[in-house]
Amino acid sequence: MPKQHYWRGMHVPYITAWSAESAHQPPVVWRVGQGGEGLGYDDELPVIDRRYEALWVRSGLAQGRGEPDFSRINTHRQKRAMKCSLCQVCGGTAYGWRADDERTLHLVGGATPIAEGETTAAPPVHPGCAVEAIESCPPLRRGHAAALVEFSPLWGVAGVVHDPVTLAPLPSPGARPGDLQHVHVGDKAIRWTLANFTVVSLHGVTPVSRDELYAMAEADKHRAVAA
Ligand SMILES: [Zn+2]
Repeated sequence: MPKQHYWRGMHVPYITAWSAESAHQPPVVWRVGQGGEGLGYDDELPVIDRRYEALWVRSGLAQGRGEPDFSRINTHRQKRAMKCSLCQVCGGTAYGWRADDERTLHLVGGATPIAEGETTAAPPVHPGCAVEAIESCPPLRRGHAAALVEFSPLWGVAGVVHDPVTLAPLPSPGARPGDLQHVHVGDKAIRWTLANFTVVSLHGVTPVSRDELYAMAEADKHRAVAA
């Protein structure tokens, strides 16, 4: 279990952004790079700024320094949590929450059940950590859906697509204002996307009701005590 961070008595989730992590965001420029034209930075460092052909927002890495901003997610920890299947709340491995079950649990806001093939930027979560998130996060308390998922391959990125001519940010179609657009790795628009997060798709989805989730969390607690 990685080190847990607290602020004013509150447990701060692993993926939450901290004030010391804010970084200067340079303007995007038109750039020809490997694979063609797209967005870039004047002082681009491909190893840091580019992945899956998209340009990535800049962010520091200083978990626990300054104050947490519960409304924002650190891009580096989100990427790491997706790549390594880490729990978004405690940062521990989200596999093996039960010895005989290799599925991961996913939790999303809103009342709509998680659909087969749905794309998400939310990393997996332990049952106990999901209950903690629901009880401490008002939007999740108002509505959430949970599901056990068999596999969750990389699908693309969540970000803001820019106009290839004017370089102005384009509104996200069909989403609420401010929502990030999910762009597939095979979509040419990914080269014009300023990416914030990794997106996976969810397959082998079994919905988990609120009662089932609380029962899973309770069983998990007893196992942790017995271990
Ligand atoms: Zn956890």
